[in-house]
Amino acid sequence: MFSLGSLAQVAGTMKSGEEKMPVLFIGHGSPMNGIEENAFSEQWQELGRKIPTPKFVLCVSAHWLTRGTHVTAMEHPRTIHDFGGFPRELFEVEYPAPGSPELAGETARLVTKTQVGLDHDWGLDHGTWTVVRHMYPNANIPVLQLSIDYHQPAKYHYELARELAALREKGVLIIGSGNMVHNLRMVAWDKLNEPEFGFDWALEMNTLFKQHIADGNHQPLLDYQQLGRAAQLAIPTPDHYYPLIYSLGLQEKGDTVEFFNDKAVGGSLTMTSVWIG
Ligand code: ZN
Repeated sequence: MFSLGSLAQVAGTMKSGEEKMPVLFIGHGSPMNGIEENAFSEQWQELGRKIPTPKFVLCVSAHWLTRGTHVTAMEHPRTIHDFGGFPRELFEVEYPAPGSPELAGETARLVTKTQVGLDHDWGLDHGTWTVVRHMYPNANIPVLQLSIDYHQPAKYHYELARELAALREKGVLIIGSGNMVHNLRMVAWDKLNEPEFGFDWALEMNTLFKQHIADGNHQPLLDYQQLGRAAQLAIPTPDHYYPLIYSLGLQEKGDTVEFFNDKAVGGSLTMTSVWIG
């Protein structure tokens, strides 16, 4: 006799890559999370085991800001070490996941809002690989990136993301990778090792973000510039915030929302992440 749990497991295996994929927003934090075994990276490993194996991963990283929207379209994206001042070990990491020119083409075709460029220069930046290498350590699932047109407002990104929702039915796991609260100038470097230390305004915004997300109340999140002084401190520039907007734009009726890695780091960052599905 099967237990319910094992039946669910069998169903999960059988439908692998065919059932509707969840959407994630991941707070990626320090590049060191890419090589550290810590509470955050353990959660990412757990996600890799929990989610039915996707056919593709499409990541919107805070670290690929462009004019216009582009999708990586090469067969073999390079691993980009887009940071400085970290140990050599981190620069030596390679994540040799293949790309998928086919999915890049399909992604571009789905979007009517703008003409999505097929990119052959970028690759996988640390917003993507530091997370995905924990989820899929064998690097055997094709990984693509979609760039963020940094000249466009939040509403634009939200609407563009909605056009990609059909990919969820095709085994594509879409990940927004940034940080909801992200103010590098205000990091309390002396308190980096103090667990979960967050400034009042950071914790206030973390609570407000989660409340709006849990309520499916996206409009105030699109109008984040009207959320007052705490929001201005949390989002001094929107590069790490826009990936959240993509994830929310991909939410559909019937999806439930769960939070994980709900922690502040160094006062002015939060790792708070969202499962939508
Ligand atoms: Zn970052």
